[in-house]
Amino acid sequence: MCDKHWTDDELIARLYDVRAENEHLAKCASCSQRLNAIRARYKQRPPLQIEVTPEYLTAQRRLIRARIGKKRRVLPRILVPVFVTLLLATVIIVYKPASVAPPPKAPISDSEFFDDVYSKISDPLPSSAGPIRALFEEKK
Ligand SMILES: [Zn+2]
Repeated sequence: MCDKHWTDDELIARLYDVRAENEHLAKCASCSQRLNAIRARYKQRPPLQIEVTPEYLTAQRRLIRARIGKKRRVLPRILVPVFVTLLLATVIIVYKPASVAPPPKAPISDSEFFDDVYSKISDPLPSSAGPIRALFEEKK
């Protein structure tokens, strides 16, 4: 690692004393020259034009405390019942309640039962073939 040249980010970190100096910087002319160039450019930077007064800082602090004290509402109060209703309707639609079992049919008499069975036996075609049969009957 000592043999690799320092990157610009590493040199800038050294400028701000974030990174410790190592042997390479002392031995390598190229890296120390680049670091000196960065230091020279840093010293030539224009001074900050922002004037920070204690009153300005106090006002900033007051604004921050006011923001922290406010409770943020995600939804206005009027929309909450609407949202809950929509959510409930969605849940009901997605999870349909089990359908109620149909009430048991009234008992039929023996003659009605046998008539129904006889009509089903005497008809050679199943009842689902009714529409097709009707189609052929119309073409005659
Ligand atoms: Zn180097």
